[in-house]
Amino acid sequence: MGMPHLPLSSRLTVLRGVGPAYAEALGQAGLETLRDLLWALPYRYVDRGSLRRIAELDRFHPGDERSPVTVLGTIKDLRQTTTRVQRMTLTEALLEDGSGTLRLVWFNQAYLARALRPGDRILAFGAPALGRHGLELRGPAWELMGRGAAVADDDPFVRRYLPLYRKLGPITGRVRGRLVQEALGRVQVMEDGLPPELAKGLPDLLTALRLLHQPLDESDPQALEQGRTPAHQRLAAEELFAFALGVALRRAGRMQRRGRVMPTSPALRERLQGFLPFTLTTAQRRAFKEIVGDLTSGRVMHRLLQGDVGSGKTLVAFLTMAMAAETGGQAALLAPTEVLARQHAVTFTRLLGDDAHRMQLLLGPMKAAEKRAALARIASGEASYVVGTHALFQEAVAFADLQLVVVDEQHRFGVKQREALKTKGGDPHWLVMSATPIPRSLALAVFGDLDQSVLDELPPGRQPIRTRLLDPDDAERAWDLVERELGAGRQAYIVSPAIDPTDETKVSLRDIQAMEALLRARFHGVALEVVHGRLKADEMGARMARFVSGEARLLLATTVIEVGVDVPNATVMVVDHAERFGLSQLHQLRGRVGRGAHASHFVMLSRAETERLHALVETQDGFRIAQKDLELRGPGEFFGTRQSGVPQFQVADLLRDRALLVRCREVAEVVLARGLNDVQRAWLQQEQARLKLAEVS
Ligand code: ADP
Ligand code: MG
Repeated sequence: MGMPHLPLSSRLTVLRGVGPAYAEALGQAGLETLRDLLWALPYRYVDRGSLRRIAELDRFHPGDERSPVTVLGTIKDLRQTTTRVQRMTLTEALLEDGSGTLRLVWFNQAYLARALRPGDRILAFGAPALGRHGLELRGPAWELMGRGAAVADDDPFVRRYLPLYRKLGPITGRVRGRLVQEALGRVQVMEDGLPPELAKGLPDLLTALRLLHQPLDESDPQALEQGRTPAHQRLAAEELFAFALGVALRRAGRMQRRGRVMPTSPALRERLQGFLPFTLTTAQRRAFKEIVGDLTSGRVMHRLLQGDVGSGKTLVAFLTMAMAAETGGQAALLAPTEVLARQHAVTFTRLLGDDAHRMQLLLGPMKAAEKRAALARIASGEASYVVGTHALFQEAVAFADLQLVVVDEQHRFGVKQREALKTKGGDPHWLVMSATPIPRSLALAVFGDLDQSVLDELPPGRQPIRTRLLDPDDAERAWDLVERELGAGRQAYIVSPAIDPTDETKVSLRDIQAMEALLRARFHGVALEVVHGRLKADEMGARMARFVSGEARLLLATTVIEVGVDVPNATVMVVDHAERFGLSQLHQLRGRVGRGAHASHFVMLSRAETERLHALVETQDGFRIAQKDLELRGPGEFFGTRQSGVPQFQVADLLRDRALLVRCREVAEVVLARGLNDVQRAWLQQEQARLKLAEVS
């Protein structure tokens, strides 16, 4: 055949049958080139070995969730009704496969009456259950295999595995499968970016793609389903290596940048010592030593300071800032919320004592005159300690001599925002802090080019926090506890979740108002403040201040208090609807109590997902909780926003492939030391674009 071989970068319109409408639908799903189409793997493989004849089904244990079955048959009858009691749409289909018939039922899926018709040949997957009319599949997943005349003409099961693709607009899964097959037949793969160290023992790229779109009969079904075949490994290695190489390049670039050497002296040491309200923990001392090492090395510091809630990161941050501020420069601390920025400002004011005037707070919604004055003090260098929110990113902010930036809870800032600060002057040193302890492989992925220090120890004298999970019906026990603590002179937090706990702007005022009413009735005459993400900043600040000062005894809040709020006299927290939070988020919330000398309590109210929530009752080790949370939710959700800088891979999985990532990272260093050739450079650029990874700088 004279069909020319196509490069991976060819537009999809080169395929037969891809006209403007299809190209548009593919484009909307982010599929523009043959490369994109081929990297979008089937979402599932049907194993003919798992296909059952309907007549055989009663030999399986009905209702066993763990043994779902696949059946292939023709729809004989299809009807839709509304149930009398709960007014649900009920769709029933009778499936026939030559050996028998099986009832399929779906609730509230009205569209099925349009999507399916009698005569359709479908694959249905689900766990058989015993219904009034015998065995049935309830709410099965299904795939249309043929309709009308198309039914007879091709048997999808010529091979053992049938790949299934998601429908994209007008393009059905089957049509998509055909496009993939055509692309596989016509594509030519020249570039090969994977170094031999990683490629060894794995199929080449084109073979891997073929194997994944058309698995061999002898493939292991479990490995296929879990993405652990050599072909998967090959693609994952490509993605992870491209990522690791990008990170290694960034790091290499940074190592070459000259950083300002901060002058140390006995006088400075004495000055810093004088700031300390307590003896540093061993971990704080070690971390600070590593930081000083960076600041005096002549290179730009890029360090991550990890530590569980309450491990004392703020003090380390302050000392680091003092290194710059006490030697004639400026340092800025960036906080993710105004509440937190204000609190850091209070802490710094206390630590600085007589020198408190050298600290400047900058927030977005300050009054014009106040902000002008703040900007002037930052520009003149009069303010050597600057604390603020993302307002610090704004163009109007100019520093006299910014030498160091500390970012608190860095994963809450977008990559773009962090980049914006880099343009603020010179080439400042960076210290980023994270209260979510994360496993090494992931830290590598998220904070790839950073050096790491870990605070693995809490300051002495901490009281353990007693954690309980209560059914909402037993909420009275929680309120009794709050009452007791209030009676002893303590303060309490009540947390009511926003609709979407990761998005503070989505606060359901109705929920929080209901809780407020409940609390006011239950705790007559006790001073209560309510804070949530919809309040104006100054109002929020004023209310928080009344709680911090002890004037207010109860604080009803959404997750705005999640990070960093430090009120040692608060000894009890009650979280309503705890199931709406991630485990790490709950651990952060819990970290708000247990900060003083008094025993503290953390109570979760929930009757859902109690097994998951129990992890918090069992341990106070943030590292273990984070690991569990990560396994349950996956890296994307774990880190919150998509823009947080966690790379989005198509095949690689940061949890499953963590060992591979560590290996890719090692090989990337080796390859970089050898020097990249043009093919590798071009490949790297393509992969970075495909994965939308941060630019290689
Ligand atoms: P996080 O690491 O969660 O940001 P903080 O910096 O807010 O923790 O510190 C938690 C509490 O521990 C604060 O009240 C702080 O004053 C106190 N703290 C920090 N370091 C020490 C120390 N070395 N000894 C005693 N208390 C400390
Ligand atoms: Mg903190």
